[in-house]
Amino acid sequence: MNAHTDLPPIPFIDLQAQRRRLGPALDAAVGRVLDHCQFILGPEVKAFEAELAAFGGAKHAVGCASGTDALVLGLRGFGIGPGDAVLCPSFTFCATAEVAVLVGATPIFVDVDAATFNLDAKGIAGGVETAKALGLTPKAVIPVDLFGLAADHAAIKAAADAHGLLILDDAAQGFGASINGRRTGTFGKATATSFFPAKPLGCYGDGGAVLTDDGDLADLMRSIRMHGQGSDRYDNVRIGIASRLDTIQAAVLSEKLKIFPDEIEARNVVASRYNQALADVVTVPTVPEGYVSVWAQYTIRLKAGAREGFAAALKAEGVPTAIYYPIPLHLQRAYKQYPVGKGGVAVAEKLAAEVISLPMHPYLDAATQDRVIAAVRRAVKG
Ligand SMILES: *Cc1c(COP(=O)(O)O)cnc(C)c1O
Repeated sequence: MNAHTDLPPIPFIDLQAQRRRLGPALDAAVGRVLDHCQFILGPEVKAFEAELAAFGGAKHAVGCASGTDALVLGLRGFGIGPGDAVLCPSFTFCATAEVAVLVGATPIFVDVDAATFNLDAKGIAGGVETAKALGLTPKAVIPVDLFGLAADHAAIKAAADAHGLLILDDAAQGFGASINGRRTGTFGKATATSFFPAKPLGCYGDGGAVLTDDGDLADLMRSIRMHGQGSDRYDNVRIGIASRLDTIQAAVLSEKLKIFPDEIEARNVVASRYNQALADVVTVPTVPEGYVSVWAQYTIRLKAGAREGFAAALKAEGVPTAIYYPIPLHLQRAYKQYPVGKGGVAVAEKLAAEVISLPMHPYLDAATQDRVIAAVRRAVKG
């Protein structure tokens, strides 16, 4: 052991720091639910849905059991099914493409932008062309706000409109991110998010929500999340699923949402320090002018082949890293049967070989950050 390695390992994400900050308010919120025992769609769910919609600037929010279900509700709400094609990036978490298959449609993989890691609007025309050549009807595109940075929604909307595609924004990692002051929540016809504990706005289990300005779509998604209910629970007008946001999770989320703006600021302080200290030795993340990221991940790029040694060197110093994502979806065993759009996905493949993420959360103090920075610099310089 040398001087750099005798410190305790740094956590990749520290949920306990936030738990300490929220303190008794959180216990009281959960306690209220335990007292009234309305565990499914209790009053806290309705209250949180209203707060969430307001935060995202949308008219409606529909809570559900996970971010994956939120995407399913969006696609089902759009009426997408067999014979339809759904365009999505190949460089993302699997759920983005999984949901297209779950509703019976075909995902078509489109490339991402090398600087932002997000869906490249220029690939949409090629994806549409491929869908049509296969006899599919291109119906929707799912841009992802990857690692906390909003996608280029203006360019994506222009391309989607030109091809008649509906937009379902996958903001599982990018809820709270903004472009020129406008937060994710209304960039698509619907916006899905996840409250998985490690996401920027996470709960204490699984949870998700869909936001939309369209009241009919919100009603339809509310019906689908409740077994396709009509005028009441025992009137079934369509095939649905069982996917609610637990009342306890809604109570937790209302407390967390109060401090979320402050946490976004804290994440940005961490990211700027990393940027300043690391830009001369690695490729640091790009945030375009006018964009504010919520930094679900702080992801750098290394020269191809350098990643394994880099991760091992950091680990030896107690600094954890993670690779999001080592294999682009079009090369995954479960997904390689699905088409890649015309134009290919070369950038997704390159990124999958080069990216690595460093510890990032709102409670990462300067001293801990300095340890990460020093370890990165030593690992890169060898
Ligand atoms: C986490 C995530 C999801 C799925 O959310 P779950 O709540 O885990 O189902 C979907 N898309 C992206 C991009 C994600 O990161």
